[in-house]
Amino acid sequence: MLDGRALAARMREELAPQVLEFDRRHGRPPGLAIVLVGQNPASEVYVRNKLKAGSEAGFRADLERLPESASLPDVLALVGRLNASPVHDGILVQAPLPKGLGPDASPRVFDTIAPEKDVDGFAPVNVGRLLQGRPTLVPCTPLGIIELLTREGIPIAGRRACVIGRSDIVGKPVALLLLQRDATVTVCHSKTPDLAAVCREADILVAAIGRAGLVTKAFVKPGATVVDVGMNTLTDPAVAAQWYPEGHPRLTAFRKHGTLLVGDVHPDVADVAGALTPVPGGVGPLTIAMLMANTLRAAQLVAGSR
Ligand code: NAP
Repeated sequence: MLDGRALAARMREELAPQVLEFDRRHGRPPGLAIVLVGQNPASEVYVRNKLKAGSEAGFRADLERLPESASLPDVLALVGRLNASPVHDGILVQAPLPKGLGPDASPRVFDTIAPEKDVDGFAPVNVGRLLQGRPTLVPCTPLGIIELLTREGIPIAGRRACVIGRSDIVGKPVALLLLQRDATVTVCHSKTPDLAAVCREADILVAAIGRAGLVTKAFVKPGATVVDVGMNTLTDPAVAAQWYPEGHPRLTAFRKHGTLLVGDVHPDVADVAGALTPVPGGVGPLTIAMLMANTLRAAQLVAGSR
């Protein structure tokens, strides 16, 4: 099991002296602003975790809240104010935005965030730089995955990597990062025929799908490294009983709470994988650690260019 929680804690410890040094030099800590529009319960939890991690690591971490009734111009105006803020080095707009803002709200917002403050790495300029392999702010989850593989000594160069999922926030950027590190990369999606056979070719398999337990043993070459990005809520007692043997702590937790956070990878994959990230405690904590790293980087880059 690849322990993302322990690695994230280590990374935050490594950041702490750099945060202090920034504060000493500039008379203020690096600052992160998180914009939360509406009241999505999952977003509330994610934002709370990010703010807590930020404060604990010595950052200034501010929540900028807008009501569900806010209009797109309201959101863009807030982002504009944060772009001009001298105390905020990083801006994160928590997804998803309320549907009422319209279908083009996300791209409009990402187009508005100043690229040098875009700690999520979603602004088109940063996406373009990533595509060209130039230094830039890279999306946190893909960055965390590469950091994990690197620090765990899992070779990437020359290996076959397979990414299931082609979203802009996980699938595409992680595929690009693996390619930059000389893996031979295949990107799969919902229209890929014989998905299991394609995945079985991989030395490194990244599952970023959003379908609980879709990746079974049949998808995994023995000894392969499997990175489970999925975050799904299991609610079906029959599925929980099938997945975990009687007495298993995960089954006990499910029975206690009635739900369970699970990944895209079926628990049985642990029997064949050489290394596997758990859910929870794998990619999730690393994503937050990389957000802190990106905020510090943004702060240092802007301060250095003044
Ligand atoms: P997304 O935008 O919904 O993309 C899902 C991708 O999976 C799409 O490319 C889709 O293919 C593909 N897919 C769906 N069903 C499939 C199937 N049956 N077979 C093969 N491919 C299939 O999701 P996302 O934002 O990338 O997130 C993916 C998962 O990661 C979610 O569970 C999310 O909660 C989780 N996540 C976790 C973190 C973290 O910090 N741990 C961060 C971000 C996301 P098409 O393109 O063909 O539709």
